[in-house]
Amino acid sequence: MTYKENFSDKKKFHITTFGCQMNEHDSEIMAGMLIEKGYVQTDNREEADIVIFNTCSVRENADKRFFGTLGQLKHKKMQQKEAFTVCVCGCMMQQQHVVDTIKEKYPWVDVIFGTHNIHELPKLLDNLHTEQIKQIDVWEDGREIVEDLPAKRLFRHKSFVNIMYGCNNFCSYCIVPYTRGRERSRKPEDIVKEVRMLAADGVKEITLLGQNVNSYRGRSDAGETDFADLIYMLADIEGIDRIRFMTSHPKDLSDKLIDAFRNCDKLCKYIHLPVQAGSDAVLKDMNRKYTADDYRTLVKKIRAAVPEIAISTDIIVGFPGETEEDFEETLKLVRETEYDSAFTFLYSIRKGTPAARREDQVPEEVKHHRFNRLVEAVNESSAKKNHAYIGRIERVLVDGTSRSKEGTYEGRTDSFKLVNFTGEAGLEGKIVPVKITGANTFSLTGETADSLKL
Ligand code: SF4
Repeated sequence: MTYKENFSDKKKFHITTFGCQMNEHDSEIMAGMLIEKGYVQTDNREEADIVIFNTCSVRENADKRFFGTLGQLKHKKMQQKEAFTVCVCGCMMQQQHVVDTIKEKYPWVDVIFGTHNIHELPKLLDNLHTEQIKQIDVWEDGREIVEDLPAKRLFRHKSFVNIMYGCNNFCSYCIVPYTRGRERSRKPEDIVKEVRMLAADGVKEITLLGQNVNSYRGRSDAGETDFADLIYMLADIEGIDRIRFMTSHPKDLSDKLIDAFRNCDKLCKYIHLPVQAGSDAVLKDMNRKYTADDYRTLVKKIRAAVPEIAISTDIIVGFPGETEEDFEETLKLVRETEYDSAFTFLYSIRKGTPAARREDQVPEEVKHHRFNRLVEAVNESSAKKNHAYIGRIERVLVDGTSRSKEGTYEGRTDSFKLVNFTGEAGLEGKIVPVKITGANTFSLTGETADSLKL
């Protein structure tokens, strides 16, 4: 039998991922487990024998899109029956009302599981047709952390690495503590082992993932390791050139971490520091546990230590009770802080969160009007920051050929700026010097400056 025939005999799976990097990485792990079992990944959902939806419950649109896309599979499932398997997992499945909706309105879904037990997927698929009942396996909370799961990376040269799971913060608009459980940190030695393996496999850049990496506390026989300690440990690993992390809660960001930005060359000079609002009243209602001035002080401290650092943020517009004056405070903070970029969100009700129960919801048209004004302020700041790069030579890790323009590459600077640039063939996965020749609101353009040493 030829390889091709053998390959075509294998079952194909397709994963659709909604939401954040944690979900993206969970999907990489599921893909790794299925490939290890002999399945083949396909980009084409139409030809898949197994379709998996990894869902998100943070944004309203994500779950609307999920149910819309799920519904499109009914016809194929009715035709192919047991030859076609539909699995749904992720944050939405940690909510009982969602599981109930699927059981009632989409009874042809084969497997339902949650965020705490993605490692069970191969077993759930094995048992699929041996048991009479639908495979529903949603753990209420994380039990032990399961190590050594394989992952099928999106890129050869960079990888996500989970360092912790869950969140203890209970921001009043957020469903994550309910869907991903309380904070659990991985042991530092397990993380180091994983990163060593990634480095041996050609990975140059790692992004450490956690809902609030600043509260990482890894426990081992040697004692407790905090987040800054962990960064230094990982920076010692040969082959790893860049370390990034997501996400950072301002209330827990330590001076030790700011020092690490200054002292550790491998720690990229970029921080995503969600502010969410610039009004103290709104911040209090959001249960963020800092004031706008606390945040300003923190940004000043970071910039004093590392002047070239790029800062991005998350902002929610139209939180319940937000007045025009509150919103003006947010605009003021955005203008003062001069962010490199910001993810801006319209507040949307998340069932099960304290903010959802409030009666003083902001009317949609008011939210949209404020949102547009905010985006304008953010874009102005991003364009200004990006223009300052023109003429500089930046080290760019090349992700691949550009999706937007033929004959060009795209990659990221140390400060996480997206750069489209021209260069000779074969640069993918390398860190190359790029002269920045142009800038717009969302990206930079340039050309390789290979005659120059970095
Ligand atoms: S820190 Fe707040 S917003 Fe972030 S995951 Fe935890 S509860 Fe949600």
